[in-house]
Amino acid sequence: MSEPVLGIDLGTTNSVVAIADDQAIHVLPDEDGYRLIPSVVSFHPNGDVIVGRSARDRRLLDAPNTVYSVKRLIGRPFQSEEVRRARSRFAFELTESHSGGVLVAARSESYTLSEISAFVLREVRRVAEARLGESCTKAVITVPANFNELQRSATKAAGRVAGLDVLRILNEPTAAALAYGYGRGSRERIAVFDLGGGTFDVTILELAGEVFEVLATAGDTYLGGDDIDSLVAEQMAEAFLAHHRYDPRNDRQAYERLRAAAEWAKCQLTNEPEVQLRVEELAYGPGGVSLDLTFGLTRQALEAMATPLLARAFDVCEEAMRVAGVRPTQLDNVILVGGSTRMPLVHRLVEEYFGKTPLADIDPDVVVAQGAAIQGKALATSRAKSRLGKVALRRAEIAQPRISIEEVSTGLAQDPRSAASDKPSKRPPPPPPRAATARPAPPPPPPVATMAKPSGQQLGLPPPLPEAPPLEPIRPSPAFAVGTPSLDMPGFDLPSPEPSADPGLDFGAFDFGAPPAPPTDFEPLTFDAPPAPLTAPEPVVYDVPSEPVAPPLLLDVTPLSLGLETVAGYCEHIIKRNSAIPTEQVRIFSTGMDDQSEVVVRVCQGESRRLEENQLLGEVQLTDLPPGARGSAQIEVTFMLDADGTLSVRAMDLKSGRQQSIRIQLVGGVDESGFEEMQARLEAKFAAPPGA
Ligand code: ADP
Ligand code: MG
Repeated sequence: MSEPVLGIDLGTTNSVVAIADDQAIHVLPDEDGYRLIPSVVSFHPNGDVIVGRSARDRRLLDAPNTVYSVKRLIGRPFQSEEVRRARSRFAFELTESHSGGVLVAARSESYTLSEISAFVLREVRRVAEARLGESCTKAVITVPANFNELQRSATKAAGRVAGLDVLRILNEPTAAALAYGYGRGSRERIAVFDLGGGTFDVTILELAGEVFEVLATAGDTYLGGDDIDSLVAEQMAEAFLAHHRYDPRNDRQAYERLRAAAEWAKCQLTNEPEVQLRVEELAYGPGGVSLDLTFGLTRQALEAMATPLLARAFDVCEEAMRVAGVRPTQLDNVILVGGSTRMPLVHRLVEEYFGKTPLADIDPDVVVAQGAAIQGKALATSRAKSRLGKVALRRAEIAQPRISIEEVSTGLAQDPRSAASDKPSKRPPPPPPRAATARPAPPPPPPVATMAKPSGQQLGLPPPLPEAPPLEPIRPSPAFAVGTPSLDMPGFDLPSPEPSADPGLDFGAFDFGAPPAPPTDFEPLTFDAPPAPLTAPEPVVYDVPSEPVAPPLLLDVTPLSLGLETVAGYCEHIIKRNSAIPTEQVRIFSTGMDDQSEVVVRVCQGESRRLEENQLLGEVQLTDLPPGARGSAQIEVTFMLDADGTLSVRAMDLKSGRQQSIRIQLVGGVDESGFEEMQARLEAKFAAPPGA
């Protein structure tokens, strides 16, 4: 058998790895039987880097050197609001990199966020290799649907540093839909409702045989289980303050322990009507006297606290429904994803909103990794033959240079004048079931773009600012065509979750009683119950179809509009939000001065007409322009989003037909030269758990 392709759900809170083989999809547990690998990295005083469960425990001992939730920040500029917020909340230190990105400072060294994620991916890889007994170097990694260019690129870079060839970046909801629907041959419209630790996303998809089309996606990057923990922690802190006249919120280490206790209480209340807890030595008062926390909470009280917070999720659902052009009750099924959807309150609210019971036979913790594994297998086995393969091939035809962090690329063509043209998107012809569900025609050609010269001075005649385009609604699909070729394929049934819940969620013997060991102690603090011994080391989770099913065809959309700076400070959208990918758009650029040899175009992502309100992605630099009078050069610049949602740009001199050289610099991007260094550092510091 060829080398397996790992399907990796690289989560904000937890990561999961799965593989698909000819028989089944296997979620790969670590040697203690845990399937969830906490996305936490701790820098030990002895120089080792500890990842996963032991690292999560170290949050309680050594908060300043224990890094978590970096997915919230990956690919974000240091100066962004998210980073500012994180700096005030996280106990570890963040600093600014040369290129405007974020670095984590721990034990007098600095790490890019791609490196931190690479440590998590390295652990994921180690778990998979230990379980499979062979080397694993290929992966499909999932990301939230609303991740922008920088975030996708930084995730790919993380994979590369961890020694993984990332075959595809896949959207999490699409992966969940794949795990649910691949091989079923059904035609239905579903919602994927994903409430994890830090973020909420909802995605509406249409499934037709092996075709998975995203109709709309929306999300809130600050809504998740962590927020519920914060509400509980607040109450605990108030109770502690009232009892001891000591505010644990001003003591970072105590507050970490308090939050961990809050999360534990919340999870208990999923199964119990009420919970009592006692945390010994939560903090130390005057004279070093130890202060304990005693706290009780009912599920009813938790639900009263969480309801207003969760209401926000349904505002987001409304937005997605509007874009998809459907009503919640018109959906055929709702898939719950993410640990927080285990809460009974979430079940009830989802049921009320969608008017149907969410599917019960899907494990919200692992379904995303399972979908990634299916996609990985499809990519590995049938790239050349499948329609999926054709998509890849077509992309290869049209997109030579790929702009991503790993390739600060040089390459392309020339610079023309300012008549804009749109090339039709080069996506594959729709398969039979899609024939009746064509998207609306592409928007009319946008107005001419001009460009800024390197100094920022404006070139050419500024066009009148176009009106902000209305949100492009996606029509609800008309009836499906009959005769779907794969409809009679055998089903791909989802079995019920493993009989024993993930031991990581069982906080039965949650023991806060031990006094915190000094931060130099290498022994991790026991935080939850020891896992039940594994009886079946090979957990085969799903059945697979007994006959081969065509590989999936994923028709995804881009979650954010891609734009260019036109008149200084303004942005013209060239690839609109919710456009199907892969796609490409062309703009013609020209010089604004005689003998101008270089042109710089700023590229951003977001919905605002003002550049500064969007996420600046970077700059495209057209260099070595032939000398000539102002306006004589005509450079056709093609912006392409591939199936990963990764941007590439190519440029061509229309007069000579010559490829014009282009340089792309992503904000906060990792320099090509930095990769080897990061890989070497990772391998030197990565600490496999004792006995592994
Ligand atoms: P992410 O996608 O952010 O990595 P997960 O899907 O792993 O996150 O979900 C983690 C969140 O789920 C945490 O906030 C955790 O407290 C919450 N969670 C896990 N199990 C339960 C449970 N049984 N009841 C309530 N919340 C839970
Ligand atoms: Mg998740």
